Amino acid sequence: MSAIVCSHVDKAYGATAVIRDLNLSIEEHEFVVFLGPSGCGKSTLLRLLAGLEDITGGEVSIGGKVVNDLEPGDRGIAMVFQNYALYPHMTIFDNIAFGLRRQKVPAAEIVKRVEAVSRTLGLDPYLGRKPAELSGGQQQRVAIARAMIKTPKVFLFDEPLSNLDAKLRVHMRIEIKELHQRLKTTTIYVTHDQIEAMTMADKIVVMRDGRIEQVGAPLELFDRPANLFVAGFIGSPAMNLLKGVVRKGDKPVVDISGTAFPLAPGSTARDGQNVVYGVRPEHLEIHPDGVAARISVVEPTGSETLVFVRFGESEMVALFRERHDFKPGDTLHLRPRLDQLHLFDAETGNRL
Ligand code: ADP
Repeated sequence: MSAIVCSHVDKAYGATAVIRDLNLSIEEHEFVVFLGPSGCGKSTLLRLLAGLEDITGGEVSIGGKVVNDLEPGDRGIAMVFQNYALYPHMTIFDNIAFGLRRQKVPAAEIVKRVEAVSRTLGLDPYLGRKPAELSGGQQQRVAIARAMIKTPKVFLFDEPLSNLDAKLRVHMRIEIKELHQRLKTTTIYVTHDQIEAMTMADKIVVMRDGRIEQVGAPLELFDRPANLFVAGFIGSPAMNLLKGVVRKGDKPVVDISGTAFPLAPGSTARDGQNVVYGVRPEHLEIHPDGVAARISVVEPTGSETLVFVRFGESEMVALFRERHDFKPGDTLHLRPRLDQLHLFDAETGNRL
């Protein structure tokens, strides 16, 4: 049985549709990430699942039960917010215990449960402190502890790491993933950061404009993006997306501003079809048969080098892990790896 099912879910604020006819199943124990640009509706969808907002149409089920009319507290979910929402005047112990006290759980059991989650999250030394006396990462852990203590069926995280600095974000991301591996609680995590999504998720739901663009495992989305939006959104540096026309002669090619790029064998693209040719920077290799391109900028980062090149009216970027002595103005011959090509219909944006 799926942990959560959304069936034809709509949400509108007045005349503005924010979620449109959305269908989605989330399996038990999965770590699912809602990913998309700001304003695409991912937080709204999370809040609909939590019951913090009412849906306009459709049905949401949690654990096989329709929850459309259930209060947030009766849905078996716990949410961790971006701003932690800790009570500043209370100790860490009292912050974590707050929900249980409201439920009138006996005091001795509260102590036992607070101690257990504190141990799991490494918070035991801080139980007597106030939130302001903890670091950002520790405050984040308190927010997680407060959700965990409810032993929910589903954890919901709304951009929980966006207030942390880059280094701490990487650390907390590993901590949350490790926690999920231990507890195996079904988790939904909202972010606009595709690296966070790629590194944490079992399954990513890519959203745009209130709709789902693609659902899949991180590497499935990376290897076979269903459309131009997903192709451009997943992967860093982003995929090169070059407009061209298919020419199916003896040797089928895509003509990109007068330069012939190879077409993958067996491609179903039609002769004369307008396409977008997708090749990731790391899938361009130096080869004498490659396309001649002039280097405009070289960006070494130490572990890899990005090389921006121009040919005809077009530009693309190549990524090399080995060291080269490239200079702006040099000519490179670059060839895409045929087994790593992506081709999209220019009109529909869909993968061919
Ligand atoms: P995301 O989390 O992907 O950044 P949101 O779910 O927060 O996006 O918002 C989706 C859209 O819904 C945005 O255009 C936002 O302005 C709109 N929206 C969100 N909440 C409300 C609200 N309470 N009233 C009106 N519009 C809202």
